[in-house]
Amino acid sequence: METTGKSVDWTTICYHFDNLSTQNEVPKSLRKFDLMSTNDKSAPHESLNFLEEIIEADLASGKYKTILTRFPPEPNGYLHVGHATSICLNFGLGVKYGGATNLRFDDTNPTTEETEFVDSIIEDVRWLGFEAAKIVYASDYFGQLYEWAKVLILKGKAYVDFSTSVEMAALKGTPTEAGKDSPYRNTSPEENLALFEKMKSGEFPDGHCTLRAKIDMSSPNMIMRDPLLYRIKHAHHHRTGDAWCIYPMYDWAHGQSDSIENITHSICTLEFAPHRELYDWCIAQLGIFPSHQYEFARRNVSYAITSKRKLKQLVEENFVRSWDDPRMPTISGFRRRGYTPASIREFCDRIGLGKREMVADMSLLEFCIREDLNKSSLRRFAVLNPLKVVITNYLEGKIEHLETENNPEAPETGHRPLDFCRDIWMEQDDFMETPLPKYFRLSPGGMVRLKSAYIIHCEEVVKDAAGKITEIHCTYVPESRSGQDTSGLKPKGVIHWLSASDAKTAEVRLYDRLFQVEDPASEEDFKSTINPNSLQVIENALIEPALVGASLGDRFQFTRLGYFCVDPDSTADKMVFNRTVTLKDAWAKEANK
Ligand code: ATP
Ligand code: MG
Repeated sequence: METTGKSVDWTTICYHFDNLSTQNEVPKSLRKFDLMSTNDKSAPHESLNFLEEIIEADLASGKYKTILTRFPPEPNGYLHVGHATSICLNFGLGVKYGGATNLRFDDTNPTTEETEFVDSIIEDVRWLGFEAAKIVYASDYFGQLYEWAKVLILKGKAYVDFSTSVEMAALKGTPTEAGKDSPYRNTSPEENLALFEKMKSGEFPDGHCTLRAKIDMSSPNMIMRDPLLYRIKHAHHHRTGDAWCIYPMYDWAHGQSDSIENITHSICTLEFAPHRELYDWCIAQLGIFPSHQYEFARRNVSYAITSKRKLKQLVEENFVRSWDDPRMPTISGFRRRGYTPASIREFCDRIGLGKREMVADMSLLEFCIREDLNKSSLRRFAVLNPLKVVITNYLEGKIEHLETENNPEAPETGHRPLDFCRDIWMEQDDFMETPLPKYFRLSPGGMVRLKSAYIIHCEEVVKDAAGKITEIHCTYVPESRSGQDTSGLKPKGVIHWLSASDAKTAEVRLYDRLFQVEDPASEEDFKSTINPNSLQVIENALIEPALVGASLGDRFQFTRLGYFCVDPDSTADKMVFNRTVTLKDAWAKEANK
C-alpha cells in the first residue's frame, strides 16, 4: 500500500484496531498501514496525492482558473472495479476543486462497441454518485478530426501508406535501432490529400492503406516512429451508422478530444506514458487548447479480473449468468450483490493513488461494505437450513407477541414484532448431537437463549428410520423472557430462530470468490482458476414476515448470517436474497488456521 493515499480516516481505523474482536476485522494490509501511522503521531489527517499537488500548483499559479477532468471509457463492455477507481479519481478531483468532469465515450472502434454498454456505463457512473458535466462521444468529433488530419497532411506531417502491417513492422526498427522510411513517406501533400479523401469516400477495402503521421523513424520512443492515425474499416458504428469507413486511432482521437472539451488534466493509466509525447505533438501541430496528460498506476483487486475483454468471456461462455452477476467484479455486479456506492467510493479512497502498479485486497472492499451496512441496515431473522424445534411445555395454539430491535447501532429505528409459539425453526448448524469442546450452541441436555425470546433446554432428539434428525424437543424457561429474565441462568450461546406460525419461504443465494487464486489474470488460462463453489442457492430458506415485500435496493443484516439484499429475480410469490458479505472475514480465519 502506498502512503500517498488520500484522506485516510485515522479515527475509524484506530477505533477498529482497538476493537479487533468486533465483527468486522480490519484487513491485514490495513493493520500494517495503521501500525506505521500510530507510531508516527504527526501523521497528517490528509496528505495530498501527486495529482492533487499538481492541480493545486496549477490553480495557485493561475495556469487554470478551474479544472476539467474526464472519464473516457470505451463502450466495449461493462465497467469493472478498476474503472470505479478511475471514476472516483476523475470525478473526485472535479468535485474537490470545484471543477467538473465529462463522461466521454472513446468510441473509435465500431466493431466492439454497443449501445447496451453505453447505457450501462452511464447508469454505473450515476449510481456511484457522480454527475457528468457533459456526456460526450469521441464519435461526435469524427468530422473535426478528419479536418485536422487534412491540416496535418497539407503541412507535410502525414501521409497515406500502402504498406502491409508486416512490411511496416519490418521497417519499424527496435528500441536500440532506428527504423527505416516507408516507400510512401515522401508522397506530396496534394497527392496524400487526394488519397486520404479516397480513403474516406470508400474507394479502398479494409486494410488497403492507412494514414500515418510523419514524425521521426529514429525516435528513441517507438510510438513516435510514424504512428498510424487512421485505418479503413467498413463497419457499422453504434452512433454514426455507415457515415464513416475510416476511423481514427486512439492517439489521433484522444488528445484532440481532450482539447476540444478544454480538459485541463487528462488522467490515464501508466501504459499510456509513452503516448504522452505523441499526445503533445498532435496538439502542438494543430495549435489547439493544450490539454495535458498525467499517468497513474492501474489499480487491480485480488481474486478478481479487471479486463472487460476477459469479463466478457465469462459472460459469453456462461461461467456467470450476466455482466451483473453478483460474483462479477463489475460495478453492476457489485450493485446487484448489495454493495453501496459509498462503500465502493470509500474503498477507492483508501487504496489511494500511486505510480507503481498495485493490487488492492478484496477484503478491504468487504471491510468497507461491512462498515457501511453495520450502521445502516435493519436486522432481520432468517433460517437458511431449518431444524424444527417443538417446545413441549408451551401451550399448543398459543402465540406470544414479542419484539426485537431493528438495529442496535441506530436505536431510533425502534423495534419490530416477533411471534413466539410452540413450533419454531432454528439453524441445523446451531445443533450438535455430540458437541465439540467449546461448542456453545444447542446439544442434548444443553441450553441456549433464543434471541429476544426465551432460554430453551434440549430434552430429546427425534430421528427418522435412516437415523437422520427430523426435529428436537425442548422445554422453555418461562421466567427467562428477554428483558424480564429472573431465571438466573446464563447460557453461553444465543441463536436466531423463527416461529413456524409466521415464517415465510425465500430463495437465498450465497456467494464466494469467483476465482481460487489471488491473481487469476497471470494464469495461462484464467478460466481454469474459477471457484466451482462460488454460488450456493438455498431454495427454501425461511425468513421473518417483516422481510416480505422488501423492495429492490433494500439491504438487511440477517442476524448472525451476514448482510443481504433483495435480488431483482424476486417475485410477488417468492423473494430472492443475495448475501452481500458475511459478518466476519471467513477467509482471514482460514488463513489463521
Ligand atoms: P479494459 O482492458 O478492461 O477494457 P481499459 O483500460 O481498456 O480496460 P477503458 O474503457 O479504455 O478500459 O478505460 C477507461 C478509463 O478507465 C481509462 O482512463 C483507464 O485508464 C481507466 N482504467 C481501466 N482499468 C483501470 C484499472 N484497473 N485501474 C485504474 N484505472 C483503470
Ligand atoms: Mg481499452
